[in-house]
Amino acid sequence: MSLNSAILNRQAVVRGCAARSGEDERVASNDVSGKVALVTGASRGIGKAVALALAEAGVDVAVNYVTQDAAAQETCKRIKSLGRRALAIRADVSQGVEVARLVKTVEESLGPVEILVNNAGITRPQPLHEITEKDWDELLDTNLKSAFLVTQCVLPAMRARHWGRIINLSSVAAQTGGVVGPHYAASKAGIIGLTHSYATLLSKEGITVNAIAPALIYTEMVAVNPKARADLIPVGRFGAVEEVAEIAVMLARNGYITGQTINVNGGWYFS
Ligand code: NDP
Repeated sequence: MSLNSAILNRQAVVRGCAARSGEDERVASNDVSGKVALVTGASRGIGKAVALALAEAGVDVAVNYVTQDAAAQETCKRIKSLGRRALAIRADVSQGVEVARLVKTVEESLGPVEILVNNAGITRPQPLHEITEKDWDELLDTNLKSAFLVTQCVLPAMRARHWGRIINLSSVAAQTGGVVGPHYAASKAGIIGLTHSYATLLSKEGITVNAIAPALIYTEMVAVNPKARADLIPVGRFGAVEEVAEIAVMLARNGYITGQTINVNGGWYFS
């Protein structure tokens, strides 16, 4: 059998399996156009780049933020200029009540969330001996509990439709300790555990769950941390937000990658 006919046979088998299980033909397709995404923390930085890249792929995007209203509106303006629907929604994703309102607003305005990017996060670079219980709680609630809260809220609609993509922002800090502190590293390691659990529990339901672990992507988060130096990165430079965003789009498109952590770190940590 030639290579071409082997590939054609294989595609027919994949399509046949999808048809037999009653799933959408797009199970084996990478077309995300017309889908609805919620990107938390999309007013700036990586979240903004992910929101724009998804819009370029034909996705309508809910832009969550917590303080920077003008920046969130600017992200929406750019999404709309790409011909997609966009909506800015202020909500503190560390608070369950606000998360419930956020997801309800997206569902009523754009439709059920099909692609969730748990991106919102904070760092509090500070000397080790100054980290308090309050700092720990704030950081863990914002960076880790938020991903649980938002995921739990969007899951009923994803499960009903047998299709979903959940993409969680971890960090090289989960793997090496990083340059912020133990609270940040623990929150980002927690994201990987959360990703593994949801991926296992949802793998038969058409819902993939993956993490992206970046390192030193040049955003405000990196700019304010004096310990974040480009010479820490083997490739010798900071990463660009677009280099993370293209991975998010790939994970939104691909139905066969789940439970993985994709490192975008300039070679700082090898998997
Ligand atoms: P930025 O500081 O540039 O942006 C943070 C975003 O999160 C903003 O949109 C902010 O909204 C939002 N946000 C913060 N707290 C909340 C909250 N409680 N509720 C809702 N939104 C909130 O960060 P980055 O773009 O650099 O980082 C994005 C993600 O990537 C984070 O999870 C971060 O930990 C992770 N990451 C980043 C790396 C990097 O090198 N930059 C490396 C590894 C991981 P607002 O503008 O309204 O304040």
